[in-house]
Amino acid sequence: MAKTNLTSRVVAVTGGARGIGAAIAAAFIEAGAKVAIGDIDVHLAEKTAGALGCWSAGLDVADRAGFAEFLDSAAAALGPVDVLINNAGIMPVTPLVDEPAQSIQRQLAINVTGVIYGTQLAIERMAPRGTGHVVNIASAAGRMGFGGVSTYSATKFAVAGFTEAVALEAASSGIVFTTVYPGMVTTELSAGIPDHWLMRSCSPEVVAAAVMDAVRRGRRSVYVPRRLGPVAAVYGALPVRARAAVMGLLGADHRMLDGDADIRQTYESRVGKAHQT
Ligand code: NAD
Repeated sequence: MAKTNLTSRVVAVTGGARGIGAAIAAAFIEAGAKVAIGDIDVHLAEKTAGALGCWSAGLDVADRAGFAEFLDSAAAALGPVDVLINNAGIMPVTPLVDEPAQSIQRQLAINVTGVIYGTQLAIERMAPRGTGHVVNIASAAGRMGFGGVSTYSATKFAVAGFTEAVALEAASSGIVFTTVYPGMVTTELSAGIPDHWLMRSCSPEVVAAAVMDAVRRGRRSVYVPRRLGPVAAVYGALPVRARAAVMGLLGADHRMLDGDADIRQTYESRVGKAHQT
């Protein structure tokens, strides 16, 4: 398969101030791309951009007009956006019965609506050029439901279904669509949640390398680590009762709720503050 040369390509990354987004930005810069990062945490975005040597702006992916402005400003500064990475996301951990409405709505707004807006805005700008690549970061939780993150799982299943559907719809546009399914990744989002042998954490750099390989090779679906692909396929083929039994046997049914409360509190309060912006 012919590989796409990333030199001087313009790559926009949402949620690029930290974690997986910052690692993706660093990897593309290293490959010679011109990178724009957008993040709701505008100060950290500026700091990260200064350290990496890229362009940055404040961005709330849940605000469609603001998202359009981000893409247009990035294009004015760097050139038309060739690759959009819809990475921004949040993961509050809570039993569903205790989850405030605001947490549910904010996850839907950022993890689902933000990805839909970004994809729609990217198609508007890329289709006239007949080329482009949209990468949507889902999660292993978008193929397997995990207790403690029911709303988050719903949002990631949505990203997977949405990306599959839009790829069919825009098949003749010249735009490539990729869904990425990382397992546990060592970032603030998963801080304090114990590792499981089946889902041992990997670094954000490993996810970034997989995203870059997907853009270079035009891959449609990427699991990180790769062995999660067959695991998800076998798991998905089981009847629902068998899936629940497997999760219980593996001790993975309530794993997310076994996190370190103090460490989780730091993340939850950061995400909670973002709810209010
Ligand atoms: P993170 O919390 O380290 O970074 C997420 C970034 O997104 C933050 O800088 C945050 O400020 C930004 N953000 C939040 N809301 C935003 C908004 N409305 N608009 C713009 N930016 C916003 O998290 P991460 O682990 O790097 O997660 C990145 C993506 O990877 C998310 O979509 C997440 O669901 C997914 N993911 C993470 C893991 C994991 O274990 N860390 C596993 C699978 C998938």
